[in-house]
Amino acid sequence: MLPAIPTDVPTVPPDRNSPSGAVLLRAFLQSHDGILVTDSQNLIIAVNDAFTRLSGYWPDELIGSDPRMLASDRTTPESRASIWLALDNREHWEGEIWNRHKDGTIYPCRLRIAVLRDEKGRIQNHVANFTPADADHEAADRLAYLAYHDPLTNLPNRLAFESQLEQALLSCARDNRHLALMLIDLDNFKNINDTLGHQVGDQLLQNVAQRLRECVRASDLVARIGGDEFVVVLPEIESPLTAARVASKIQNNLVEGYRIADHLLYATPSIGISLYPLDGNDPSTMLRNADTAMYYAKGAGRNNHQFYTARMNEAAGERLHMENELRLAIASIAPGASEFSLHFQPQIETASGRVLGLEALLRWTSPKLGRISPTRFIAIAEETGLIQPLGDWVIWETCRQIRRMKQLGITDVRVAINISAQQLRHDNLLLLVRGALSCYDLSPEDIELEVTESTAMEHPETTLSTLDQLSAMGIVLAIDDFGTGYSSLAYLKHLPIQRLKLDRSFVTDIETDPNDAAICTATIALGHSLGLELVAEGVETENQRNFLAQLGCDTLQGYLYSQPMSFDETVAYLRAYRAARS
Ligand code: C2E
Ligand code: MG
Ligand code: MG
Repeated sequence: MLPAIPTDVPTVPPDRNSPSGAVLLRAFLQSHDGILVTDSQNLIIAVNDAFTRLSGYWPDELIGSDPRMLASDRTTPESRASIWLALDNREHWEGEIWNRHKDGTIYPCRLRIAVLRDEKGRIQNHVANFTPADADHEAADRLAYLAYHDPLTNLPNRLAFESQLEQALLSCARDNRHLALMLIDLDNFKNINDTLGHQVGDQLLQNVAQRLRECVRASDLVARIGGDEFVVVLPEIESPLTAARVASKIQNNLVEGYRIADHLLYATPSIGISLYPLDGNDPSTMLRNADTAMYYAKGAGRNNHQFYTARMNEAAGERLHMENELRLAIASIAPGASEFSLHFQPQIETASGRVLGLEALLRWTSPKLGRISPTRFIAIAEETGLIQPLGDWVIWETCRQIRRMKQLGITDVRVAINISAQQLRHDNLLLLVRGALSCYDLSPEDIELEVTESTAMEHPETTLSTLDQLSAMGIVLAIDDFGTGYSSLAYLKHLPIQRLKLDRSFVTDIETDPNDAAICTATIALGHSLGLELVAEGVETENQRNFLAQLGCDTLQGYLYSQPMSFDETVAYLRAYRAARS
């Protein structure tokens, strides 16, 4: 609600005998905007010349009438109602309307209405101010606005950002000032978008945009330059410390959850910072270096900020080198002979201690780079599309190894294979799985496929149909890393899955973090109510095992039982286990 209008504001028409009244009257009569005043009954009591010209009506044709006579059919009853509602709530309204000229033509105008009240707060007058709007002109303005703004968040877009950054850099150079550019990428946004849909994603972005604006001064630039990428430019900083402070403020502000459509969502920022003049003096270098720093922030565990350093470019070079080596290694892949191998980690039935199955985990030992963690090279393979041939190899190689195990007398363990999103989307997956099974004379019960939660939610129609067909073949399907996405168990009910693998991060702190314990408890109970088997990953201690056993978790996997092992070690492990039980 706006503050009440002071009671010494003259009512309309002004008293022409008082000095201020005379000025107001002249302003009223000579204004270029059309002005129309109504009384407490909303009947017209005064109009000025500009309004006469605009509407085509003489004052005596209007005085005493309801302003509705001016409206065209384009003004719907709903929009009229919304104007009155706004006047009730906020004492003013502003927007675009289409009026009908006396000659019957309709014309657009910008209308501002204000409410004037008497000293008792009763409505005395409405004052309406009409600015003629040229329809084409308005459309052109709108287009110009859209060219420089992101329609979702109303923030400047990439184009606007680049030109404003260029200007800011020029003025910094002239005045010898320092500037900071922050590139902000939301952690986990893709997951939210994939699992909850674009509408929720859009609302989240709007909320983030608003919080970002609140973190900085009006003179700082905030823009959205890509899906979940924002930039903040601080055009005048005393030292890098100022930038670090603002970055921390952004982190603190964005770390709070967002309540959207009944979900509590989290989208923390990873922030990369480049400084002028230290890290560059043109927009593209500044942005590239902030981007490099942002990737570091992601790598450093998300929800943090990193300043660009020249050393980071060396690391980017290393990454490129790794990508090239990965490409070469995949090109020379052959069954049983390559830089890649599979390790196997046992899965244990909680109640009996029986080894139920194994998970196949990919390993890469590069002759040049040494042993590289799968979390590193699989991320690169996924970014570059290399996961497709590599993942196909994993399926063939797993089947080959199962055959070898069977030949060695190990016949009763199922082996789980990790499948990435791109493989699941590709239409050759079914053919490939069928081909590999028949080539090594295996049955569908010999393997299990694991897909992560977000993978299962991506492209629901194609994913669901592929999963249905795999399930119809008799293959067990599991959701991996459960709890890290936002899928609801209700949605999972529609997927043809049999197992849920509770993510390691919840198991790790199960004894110390009440939240994690609560999540495990609820997931196990709800999973069971949907008829799913629960597998806990990353079980390292007896206490964790006991806790999970108490909750009724069906299967356990983790270092407590065994680290992932080579083929020979796995065979030895399984034999020793058999011997111990017989
Ligand atoms: P994941 O599928 O969730 O596999 C479990 C990971 O947790 C494995 O890491 C395993 O070694 C590790 N782990 C198991 N028990 C424990 C424990 O008690 N404590 C700790 N700290 N860690 C434990 P790994 O082998 O490094 O694999 C990491 C991720 O790489 C896998 O996570 C999976 O997402 C991916 N990955 C591995 N092999 C493949 C593959 O063949 N294809 C695809 N697409 N992804 C794979
Ligand atoms: Mg897995
Ligand atoms: Mg997992």
